[in-house]
Amino acid sequence: MKKLILVFLGFSFLFTFSACVTSNDEGHAEDNQAVVAKNVILFIGDGMSYAQIQAAETILNKQLAMQSMPFTGNSTTYSADKLITDSGAAGTAIATGHKTNNGMIGMNADSTAVVSMLEMFADAGKKTAIAVSCGITHATPAAFVAKNINRNDYEAIAADFATTDKLDYFVGGGRNHFQKREDGQDLLSGMQENGWQFFDELTAVVPTSTKFGVFVADEHPASVLEGRGDLLPKATALLIKQMSAHENGFFLMIEGSQIDWAGHENDSAYLINEMADFDAAVLEALQFAKKDGETLVVVTSDHETGGLTLVNGPNKDYTRIHLHYSSGNHTSVSVPVFAYGPGAEYFTGVYDNIDIIDKVMKASGY
Ligand code: MG
Ligand code: ZN
Repeated sequence: MKKLILVFLGFSFLFTFSACVTSNDEGHAEDNQAVVAKNVILFIGDGMSYAQIQAAETILNKQLAMQSMPFTGNSTTYSADKLITDSGAAGTAIATGHKTNNGMIGMNADSTAVVSMLEMFADAGKKTAIAVSCGITHATPAAFVAKNINRNDYEAIAADFATTDKLDYFVGGGRNHFQKREDGQDLLSGMQENGWQFFDELTAVVPTSTKFGVFVADEHPASVLEGRGDLLPKATALLIKQMSAHENGFFLMIEGSQIDWAGHENDSAYLINEMADFDAAVLEALQFAKKDGETLVVVTSDHETGGLTLVNGPNKDYTRIHLHYSSGNHTSVSVPVFAYGPGAEYFTGVYDNIDIIDKVMKASGY
């Protein structure tokens, strides 16, 4: 009888403990949460600022997962040579902490190659991965891996992806820049010799090697409206599953690439669907981070696109919003930063995009 009671007490203790773990939504260092982030998941919503987020919440009629994150900041986005940045300079600023000129990736304004947080984490023994809804050689993912004075030099950028030893997994489009090249080279065969496996879709992934790439398109993946499906949340889940057992932790960068393209086109249906896909990936990461307790999740953007503002309907109808675009280009307005997990508190306040890497590294104990 005594034994039975002890077993029962043991179970109830376990139950109480696990209930505490799952109900901790605060996202900062508590009893069950590490002081240092072992894993980092960085989300970049390309072209996303406050109006895109508010529009998505209003139209989807729900709180976005990113807006549930407990620590928030505000980041400026200007580049070294322009008040209004492009994704090359902004991606470089976020990835490396260096301002550069519009059009450049992975180098400072003097054309000196600089190191990205992905490369730093790889050197620290962590697994690294990138998942995007554009070609993998496009500016934002390229800023974490490639070094080029010209973001449009896709073949050279593909060659940087082919030769880096810092990246373990990727998901996106852009296969043609590796295989159908002006120089006639097939970079994928060389990569396979170096241990890379390649798949055409997420559901086909059966990893038997140490590295894999998933090319869901020869060029850019379709938009959500054109049938891409839930690529980003599924890629996020797959890559977390692949890397979460690694003893040294991991770094994962996810980009909602086409939020920007919807902004350029002033296309609200396109925009909201891309926002929903991106936020579903954020939710996937947060669910893992809440269970894991050693994962920092950061959600930010490289710049705003479309000059979106939310105005009233006709005849002063304040009961609805109308999505009003003031530009077909990027704008200079600042962007939000949301953070959850160990070190999330470092992300409060107003700062610049080159400061983000310092906060990520400090949160990770470097
Ligand atoms: Mg981008
Ligand atoms: Zn753009």
